[in-house]
Amino acid sequence: MRIVAAVANGAGVPFAIESVELAAPQRDEVVVRIEATGLCHTDLSVCDGSIPVPKFPCVLGHEGAGIVVERGTHVTNVAEGDHVVISFSACGDCAPCQAGRPASCDRFFSLNFSGRRTDGTSTLYRGDEAINGCFLGQSSFATHALVRGRDVVPVPRDLPLHVLAPLGCGVQTGAGAVLNYLRPQPGASLVVFGAGAVGLSAVLAARIAQCSPIIIVDFNSNRLGLGTEFGATHALNASEGPVVKRIRELTTGGVRFAVEASGSPTAVASAIECCRGSGAVALLGAPDFRASVTVPMRALSTGATIRWVMEGDSVPQTFIPQLIDLYRSGAFPFDRMIRCYDLTQINQAAADCRSGATIKAVLSMAHMRA
Ligand SMILES: [Zn+2]
Ligand SMILES: [Zn+2]
Repeated sequence: MRIVAAVANGAGVPFAIESVELAAPQRDEVVVRIEATGLCHTDLSVCDGSIPVPKFPCVLGHEGAGIVVERGTHVTNVAEGDHVVISFSACGDCAPCQAGRPASCDRFFSLNFSGRRTDGTSTLYRGDEAINGCFLGQSSFATHALVRGRDVVPVPRDLPLHVLAPLGCGVQTGAGAVLNYLRPQPGASLVVFGAGAVGLSAVLAARIAQCSPIIIVDFNSNRLGLGTEFGATHALNASEGPVVKRIRELTTGGVRFAVEASGSPTAVASAIECCRGSGAVALLGAPDFRASVTVPMRALSTGATIRWVMEGDSVPQTFIPQLIDLYRSGAFPFDRMIRCYDLTQINQAAADCRSGATIKAVLSMAHMRA
């Protein structure tokens, strides 16, 4: 079918709104009419060339939300007309998937970053040219996306899809790192580096987990202010002096849990340095794959656990409904981070995210059907 997509044609090149062809669904796939898609930092990292996959040209976008309009013969978990949020893709068959850890799927890379289906076929064509799709199992910077049925999460119809879209990656990454991986006891100290959508979602989750103190670190005073409104007890502007020293003072020697959500090598080092022995550091920020991190050896001798946590260690089919329940209860007001744009304004949205003016941009496709 003919669809409209924002195509990324090269590193540093603006998105181009183009008409492309979406392949027919295979038996385990659905076609989702995308209503809205969040813009996540990983999309920008691919555009900047700091994450070198998939190859250009490609269609990015991995926080899609929409309505199922067609399904393959083997799809049974959703039907036409269902509202869905699309999350990352996992195979369902490997040992980690079987153990209930789809974010650690053995085939995570090929399913989410290869640009093709696992059988090598493309889902998107520009004329006779196959272009890369399947980004995080969806490529949802488009009016429609082809998704494996097992990677969509049915959601209630009474909530707006432009609000629910960021649950598919950024929000579940930040909240899941705290609620699924770190699992702090009430009263445990926790610091979050980076007051973007991922970091602020971690702050909201830390408040739900009753952490204390909750420290947020960033350079942007507006974002730090929202962090305080979301439950941070201390907001540290990284431009105002040594961060590690101040965190140690606030936590009498070192913090129990650190969440690194900025992707900055300096912040990764600080997160490790400020953590006390027997603590844990969760690394979430999309890094520049060309960068290195330097950490003093003494910081590694404390015994703290340091782990990259993919997608908040989430099982999207259960964790996203859990986050929706928390949102309804008022405990998880992640919608306050959202600013909406039309899909055709994607380059402005990307610029606003890079500058820090917008925390979570959500692109709406509604105007393309008007
Ligand atoms: Zn798997
Ligand atoms: Zn993401």
